[in-house]
Formats: sequence, C-alpha cells, structure tokens
Amino acid sequence: MKREYQKPRILVHTEGFMNKFGPASGSYKDSIDGVKVSALTRDFGSPLFVFSEKTIREKYRKTIGEFSHKYPQVQFSWSYKTNYLDAICQIFHQEGSWAEVVSHFEYEKAIRLGVPGEKIIFNGPYKPYEALKFAVQRKSKINVDNMEEIFNMEKLANELQKPIDLGLRVNLDAGIYPAWTRFGFNLENQAAFSAITKIHSTGKLKLKGLHCHIGTFILEPKAYKTTVQKLALFSKKLKDELGIKIEYIDIGGGFPSSNTLHTQYLPGSQVNPPIEKFAEVICEELLARTDCFASPPQLILETGRALIDEAGYLVSTVVGSKRLTDGSPSLILDAGINLLFTSTWYKHNIIPTQPHSEFLENITLFGPLCMNIDIVRPSIQFPALSPGQQVLIHPVGAYNVTQWMQFIQYRPAVVLIDENEKVHQIRAKEDLEYITMLESVPGHLQNKGKKSALNKSMT
Ligand SMILES: *Cc1c(COP(=O)(O)O)cnc(C)c1O
Repeated sequence: MKREYQKPRILVHTEGFMNKFGPASGSYKDSIDGVKVSALTRDFGSPLFVFSEKTIREKYRKTIGEFSHKYPQVQFSWSYKTNYLDAICQIFHQEGSWAEVVSHFEYEKAIRLGVPGEKIIFNGPYKPYEALKFAVQRKSKINVDNMEEIFNMEKLANELQKPIDLGLRVNLDAGIYPAWTRFGFNLENQAAFSAITKIHSTGKLKLKGLHCHIGTFILEPKAYKTTVQKLALFSKKLKDELGIKIEYIDIGGGFPSSNTLHTQYLPGSQVNPPIEKFAEVICEELLARTDCFASPPQLILETGRALIDEAGYLVSTVVGSKRLTDGSPSLILDAGINLLFTSTWYKHNIIPTQPHSEFLENITLFGPLCMNIDIVRPSIQFPALSPGQQVLIHPVGAYNVTQWMQFIQYRPAVVLIDENEKVHQIRAKEDLEYITMLESVPGHLQNKGKKSALNKSMT
C-alpha cells in the first residue's frame, strides 16, 4: 500500500536564551559560594543537600531591615518546621530570631539549642497538657488554637496557682481562597470574640496577643493589609469592650520564595512580589492604626520559606537514561520525591553542573524510587545529560529537609558552606545502623545460631 505523503516538519532546537521552560541552553553552574560541586559530592556523596550560610544571613538581614525601617518594634521568630536542622536554627538565633514551634518535639529542640523559654512561640493545633505546662513554666508565648487548650490553660493556672499570659490564633477572610479556617478561632463569625470572653472571664488568663497565619506562598501583599487592619480593629473592640490590652500582633509567615508554582506561567523569580512589598503594606497599615491599641504593639513575624528557600540546593546525579515507549526521552536521577516534597508544588530550577550540548529536548526527570509517581519534573526543556553527570536543584531550602522521607533510600548528608567558603557537614548520611536503631526482633524470630530455612537452602 502506498504510504500517505506527510509534509516535512522543521523542529526548532531551542538554544541561546533563558526562557520560562528551562535554563539557557549551554548554561551551567559548577560551584556554590566558590566551592566546586564535584568536590562536594566527592567528599559527601550524592545526592547531597547544600546550604549557603552567606545567603541565609544576607536574606535575613535584608528582610528584617525592610520591616524594622518601617516599624519600630519588630521581632522575627524562626519557623522550625520549615527547616529545623540545628545548624540552620542557630544561624537564625545568632541573627536575633526567636523560635516558633508547633509541637513538643520542636519545643524541646529549641530548648536544647539554648533558646530561652520566653523567646519561644508555641503554635499549632495540638499541644498536649504536659507540653503546655512545660511551655507555661518557661514563660513562652503560647497562641491557643481551640477551646480545649483554653480549658487546659485555665486548669494550668489553677495547678500552678498563677495567672498565665497567652495569645489567641485567629483566622479571617483576607481575600485568599480557600481560606485557612481550621486553625484558631474565626473572626467574622464571632468565634474569636466569644473565646476571648471565655478567657477574660477566668480572671486568671490574660490575653496579650493576636496571632494569624493566613496561609503560605501568598502572592498578594494586599491580603496582609487586610489581615493587619482586621486584627487592629478587633484589638480596638477588645480594648473598648473588655479593657484588654493587646501587646503583640503576630502575623505568621506565608511570604513566597522565588520558586515557581506549577500553576505559574512566568518564573517565580520574576513575578513573585518581593518581601519589600509585604513589609510596606504591613508596616504602613499597622502604623496607621496604632490608635486601636493602648500602646503600639510589637509586630511579630514567623516567616519560614521566604528566608531559607534560596539558601538550599540539592545536588543530584544522573544514574540512567531511557526512551519511553512513546519515544520521549527521560533521565533517572538519584534524588526523587523522597527528598523533594516541594516538587509537588514547584517547578524548581534544575541546572546542569557541567558544560553540555546546546540542544534541548522535552525530557522527563524521574527519581530513584520504585514508585510510579516518583517524578521530579514531568517535562523540562533540558540537554540529554549522560549518567554520571550532575544537576543542581534550587531553591530547595524550605521544608524539604523536614518533610523528606526515609522510603527505600537512605537520606543523604547535608552540608553548610560558611561565609569563608569552608564546608561543614551538618547532618550525616543515614546508614543501616541508624535506620534500624529503634527496631527489635522478638526472641522467637531471632536466628540464635540455628540456620534458618533461607540459609539451609543456600548451603
Ligand atoms: C508554617 C508556619 C509558618 C511559616 O510559614 P511560611 O509560609 O513558610 O512562611 C509560620 N507560622 C505558622 C503558625 C506556621 O504554621
């Protein structure tokens, strides 16, 4: 049978320009803060998380500066769950940041690092009685989330025979949908006001602060203006009707990093509003409304991802390549979603660490797991790297080293490059002994010198 004529097609090989679908062809990055990536993986293995101390400190100083130049009393509190590696937390504490924790585990970690109790903010929907007691005895700032916590705080005031200061987590309509209404008490439906009436009626619990974390990766500075406005007007109502003096307004975190959401068209580094924009609206609004308070409140921020994301890199090595059945190319990396929880939300930058072909193809990047959904990127304009070549995945400093999972693979080492370009291991690569440390085998399942069926069959 005669085959049908097909018009020839010319396919464009993308080259030369950075575009929204990937790196500029031919572009690569072979070092981080002056340290060669190849030297890092030679010494610490691949995959490898790498943090830049310089970037963390620069980002912190710039961000706190943006706020402190515009409002007199600003306090940052490091969101532990964003990245609670000891060395990382210590950098933030050295810079003056308090600790913001959302569990007893995180609370213990902060205490262990030497953070004074009164500089720990205790948030979250689950604070067991003993954990609350631990925090109350250390004079931490506790933001209650639900009625049970208010009852427990009252019980604690009786048990410890002293009044207790606390804050209340509030949720509200800031124009961001779906609104996070599961944390704290709703402002619009009066749940917050009635909770405060209850607190006030105990006579032993003193409300000192309002806390509100509207969500995460918020791309609308306006939402914070609304939040501050609503919290200020609410504080005025509390002052006028109950004589309560609000001393701090804690507006949580939620500012975006420069990452690009899967739903974003242009790169996040180009379109996500910078911290300045958020600082501007928040400080302006609070300054304009200080008459809602007995005296100007302290402004607390619990910024997480915006402070740490850019400082973190994941180095990964290509371990295989194959054409899929539809002919499309793919690469297998030694780091997958076990180490990159945030690939669920982001199109990270993925940058080769060596010179490579100028010709880019739409390539799928798979991880190392024996699990079909282990896809680092479904499609990216990328050069056909060979096994052994490496890539840098960036920014990955937020949430990945707390949400990583030990599934199939050991978790890799984490290193910190200090400001003098010296490399420090801040978490060792896991090994079999570490992973099995908490396991035990009941007596009747132990080998005890007897050959098991498995060994017998082998001899
Ligand atoms: C997670 C969290 C933060 C940090 O959020 P980012 O979006 O990373 O800035 C701050 N406050 C609370 C209560 C949180 O749960």
